Amino acid sequence: MRKRLKETVKDLFPDGDAKVYSSFDLIGDIAITKLPDFTLANARAVAEAITQRHRSIKAVFVQSSAVTGEYRVRSLTQIFGENRTCTVHKENGCLFEVDVEKCYFSPRLSHERLRIATLIQPNETVVNMFAGVGCFSILIAKYAPTARVFSIDINPVAVHYMKKNILRNRVFGKVIPLLGDAETLIRTHLQNLADRVLIPLPEKSLEYLPAAVAALKPLGGWIHIHTFEHATKTEDPAKKTVCRVGEALAKLNICFEILFVRIVRSTGPNWWHLVADVHVVNRHKT
Ligand code: SAM
Repeated sequence: MRKRLKETVKDLFPDGDAKVYSSFDLIGDIAITKLPDFTLANARAVAEAITQRHRSIKAVFVQSSAVTGEYRVRSLTQIFGENRTCTVHKENGCLFEVDVEKCYFSPRLSHERLRIATLIQPNETVVNMFAGVGCFSILIAKYAPTARVFSIDINPVAVHYMKKNILRNRVFGKVIPLLGDAETLIRTHLQNLADRVLIPLPEKSLEYLPAAVAALKPLGGWIHIHTFEHATKTEDPAKKTVCRVGEALAKLNICFEILFVRIVRSTGPNWWHLVADVHVVNRHKT
């Protein structure tokens, strides 16, 4: 499908920009594309190509800023269809309502969300430190109905949609939505209780490692930490993440093993989004 769109776009932009123009995300019935230096005429041509291939798309937006700020949101410019940024996205059997301009959402995390959900054991307590509209948390509760997930976000709009998504996906009482700063909430209410902690904020995750460790039960558990890594063709991004996460954990005086690392997605030339699965064997070194 993407290949066919790429070919269509190549015909529209034979000057070599086709690769950029043909990259887009589908979130519910909204398409979001990145068009550097776009003109309305070429943006409309891309929108037409997308909507011809994806008949269910009701609105197309160009991402007009980087993902930025504490809430990790972006500005959007409407180029086709309905002028609304709210939609319902179907993923892994769940429905997620989201305002794509006021909250963070990426369909490219779908596989990682499923991978984590399948790791959860019966009766686990999970702390999701950066939950957005609740995708990891809700999928976990769907896959492991005896699990309890504390689902934190600092963006009030994201928590508003998280609460709606909890009801929509029938996981009320299993996913507990919490509005606020993850570190403060852990230090005041969520210490020593988690079997597993998610840190899906790659740009700042290392800063939050001490709070993640504090949330774990005294005998330890799992931490899934996301990172961004720059790696040239001769470098291995996974090795770089193991080094950086390992160094940060070594300062915390805990017993740990980094048992798995994977690339979640590419985020630009030579830039990668990774996740490392850390097993904390004991929160205090003996
Ligand atoms: N896990 C989410 C998902 O699957 O869609 C994506 C998380 S997004 C990359 C990061 C989220 O962290 C944003 O929703 C942002 O509002 C939230 N955030 C940023 N700083 C925070 C903080 N100090 N405490 C809690 N949430 C925070």
